[in-house]
Amino acid sequence: PDVDHYCVIGNPVSHSLSPQIHRAFAEQTGEAIDYQAVLVETDAFADSVRALRDQGLRGANITLPFKHEAWALCDRRSARAERAGAVNTLSCSDAGLFDGDNTDGIGLLRDLRDNQGVELADRDILIAGAGGAVAGIIDSLFDARPASITIANRSLDKARQIAARFADRGRIQALAYAELGERAFPLIINGTSLSLQGQLPALPERVLAPGGFVYDMMYQHEPTCFMRWAEQHGAAASADGLGMLVEQAAEAFALWRGVRPDSRPVIAQLRG
Ligand code: NDP
Repeated sequence: PDVDHYCVIGNPVSHSLSPQIHRAFAEQTGEAIDYQAVLVETDAFADSVRALRDQGLRGANITLPFKHEAWALCDRRSARAERAGAVNTLSCSDAGLFDGDNTDGIGLLRDLRDNQGVELADRDILIAGAGGAVAGIIDSLFDARPASITIANRSLDKARQIAARFADRGRIQALAYAELGERAFPLIINGTSLSLQGQLPALPERVLAPGGFVYDMMYQHEPTCFMRWAEQHGAAASADGLGMLVEQAAEAFALWRGVRPDSRPVIAQLRG
């Protein structure tokens, strides 16, 4: 075939921006790819992916709720995917094997450091949330050599599990929101899904250091409620997760095609 097929697999998936992002990358780089959104029933992930592979699929992005199942399906995994326990990028080898990677963390790092100009080295980072997305970003954050990472979550056991898994990478601790006390952080990342419902994680009033930076992994057309909270609490700046989404896609595209697209015009286009 003269066109290689890729897709994003999720449930729900119709809202996904991935087809628009990858089609923009393809146009920009001149790569001949077709990219679709594929809705898969929650109990049919592995069978559906094998069927897609048998029809010639070259790769897929995996979104909620299948990142862990994708990890389990893979024949081989990158070190960062192995540790995250989640795969967001699948590649189908010529022999029909599934290779799994996780580009969420590098996507966040690129957006924070390169697009937003946020300094991470020697900083204390607070992450709210301990779901699948947070597990996927810790490795990359440690690559930027922060002083420490603190994970606060409603379910403390989930935060503790993530902290234990990455303890050999650097200083990392798990706390309940109420245990944050008077500590103030120059960088806070919201990795909960609370902004989706217009709600805030239960952070103490003075948790953001004056002039700090706030990042919400959620994205929508207007600033999220967490970004508004940041503004009211003395943040120098804040950003939503759209840049992370485009950067993780760029990394996946580069893995598949061997060409790195320029993410900035695509971010600008999506911000419209
Ligand atoms: P999960 O469902 O795995 O985790 C959800 C997290 O939110 C948990 O920490 C959970 O706490 C917390 N949470 C949910 N409801 C409440 C509540 N009522 N009170 C307190 N805490 C709550 O989701 P993911 O980790 O996959 O995704 C999290 C967010 O990150 C989503 O908004 C998603 O859109 C975004 N995301 C963005 C990406 C991007 O590229 N920009 C990539 C991946 C994700 P608890 O453990 O106690 O239940």
